[in-house]
Amino acid sequence: MDNYLGFKSIKGPDLAKEFIAHAPDKIIEEEVKSICRQDKLFEVKTEKSVYQGQTLILALGMKSRKLGFKNEEKFLGKGIAYYTPTDLVELKGKTLAVVGGGDSALCAALKVAGSAKRVYLIHRRNEFRGAPALIDQIKAKKNIELVLNAQPEEAKGDGKLTSIVLNTGRELEIDQVFLEVGGVPNVYLCGELSVEMDNNFIKVDKRQQTNAPGVFAAGDMTDNPLKQIVTAAAEGAVAATGAYGYLKNIG
Ligand SMILES: Cc1cc2nc3c(=O)[nH]c(=O)nc-3n(C[C@H](O)[C@H](O)[C@H](O)COP(=O)(O)OP(=O)(O)OC[C@H]3O[C@@H](n4cnc5c(N)ncnc54)[C@H](O)[C@@H]3O)c2cc1C
Repeated sequence: MDNYLGFKSIKGPDLAKEFIAHAPDKIIEEEVKSICRQDKLFEVKTEKSVYQGQTLILALGMKSRKLGFKNEEKFLGKGIAYYTPTDLVELKGKTLAVVGGGDSALCAALKVAGSAKRVYLIHRRNEFRGAPALIDQIKAKKNIELVLNAQPEEAKGDGKLTSIVLNTGRELEIDQVFLEVGGVPNVYLCGELSVEMDNNFIKVDKRQQTNAPGVFAAGDMTDNPLKQIVTAAAEGAVAATGAYGYLKNIG
């Protein structure tokens, strides 16, 4: 994590520990299996318990979008990753690939190009969606090769990834591939709540309130455009304040 205010660079789990140490209330670590509304109460079921409340804040985040090519899962953590690491030392002198066409893919390619010997930037279209300034920087980098109109079809290797075969038939020998193709919000538990969505992201107003009375949402799963810790934390605070106001209103 490189840009959360007050922490110049910190590993995600270490930042989470700081948050937990700061949290005034009890944290219950259980996987939620279902959420529904029973009369005037929301019911959150886990494997062990059922929790009830008059209001609900959804903050389930996102999971990485999978591309679905052959052996993608097999080499996860063994040459295939969904995010670039903060510590780039291990990438020094390696041949890498970044897959994607948005800002995050362009930023990732620029970031790893500083350490890598060679970076293939693979995009399924002819043009990038990302910011023109980033595209110019990419084009100026001698060790980044653009591989356009192409996408991975198969990952190959023996225990560890050694190459990627593209749908164009080209096979690239690489040490590590980063799939920067966005995320899918974890809305799978929200079906019974009838919350309005936009492209699978929960629609919220400026109080982080959804269209369903008493249901608030915060963080990556909402339709707010910036998916960062600073925005998720701020939205959580706004949602908590909104939920408190809602409770006061209903008495
Ligand atoms: C590798 C990586 C690097 C990043 N780097 C940065 C960075 O440098 N700066 C930055 O600002 N942002 C960064 N981000 C983005 C940032 O992490 C997110 O925007 C932020 O964490 C969103 O917060 P959130 O609370 O919405 O979701 P999350 O932090 O994803 O939290 C959602 C939580 O819900 C839990 N959950 C999901 N389903 C269930 C369930 N059924 N039952 C119980 N719990 C459940 C998950 O386990 C998780 O703990 C990065 C993200 C990644 C993955």
